[in-house]
Amino acid sequence: MSIMRIAIDGPASSGKSTVAKILADELNMIYVDTGAMYRALTYMALKNGVDITNQTELVDLIHSIKISFERTKGGQHVKVNGDYITEQIRRSDVTAAVSTVAAHPYVRNELVKQQRLMAADQSVVMDGRDIGTVVFPDAEVKIYLNASVEERAMRRHKENVEKGMESSLEELTKEIKERDHKDMTRKVSPLKQAEDAILVDTTSLSIKEVVGKIKDIIIKHEKYSN
Ligand code: C5P
Repeated sequence: MSIMRIAIDGPASSGKSTVAKILADELNMIYVDTGAMYRALTYMALKNGVDITNQTELVDLIHSIKISFERTKGGQHVKVNGDYITEQIRRSDVTAAVSTVAAHPYVRNELVKQQRLMAADQSVVMDGRDIGTVVFPDAEVKIYLNASVEERAMRRHKENVEKGMESSLEELTKEIKERDHKDMTRKVSPLKQAEDAILVDTTSLSIKEVVGKIKDIIIKHEKYSN
């Protein structure tokens, strides 16, 4: 099989990473969570007192750190300069700041370069906001995952409760709406469905059903059988 890029885009908490991880495992491909890269940079900026509105400082920071992923049986870990930051990048201060960091064009250029390199010679499932539109406009398969805001907030809420974390459905709904708005209205690489992406609405679908739908799309894809 030749190299295949599966691009999965969609708004916050639409289930992209859960589904992308399962697909990558089942198809024996690497998985790249591009949101985790923007989060890792944001975490390092907050930790080091870098002004997140200052593009030059952020680009300098990118050049001074190495973001990497490690896959184990227990899941995927995110590292910066070799240190594990998997949990830290999900903190609420990081979530609140990440869309500001991700709106800078030169920050995006740098991370997009790294994302393309990660998939240069191997098949990949990559999820994010601009994978089908900017990172791999010629991806073999493009999926746009969506679900109602209410359902997305409820899923996140349930996850938090299961983990024993404090959680407010109202706060989560507000945070998701605000982040989507920022990501969809930014000047550079806004979140939008690529013209040739297939929309999968996950509202009231189980993870298994979503994975099944995407696998059907992949199988049907002409290039897959070439
Ligand atoms: O996917 P996740 O919710 O972890 O992404 C965090 C943030 O990173 C998004 O809200 C968005 O601002 C940014 N992002 C982006 N482009 C991507 C992936 C994420 O701008 N390809």
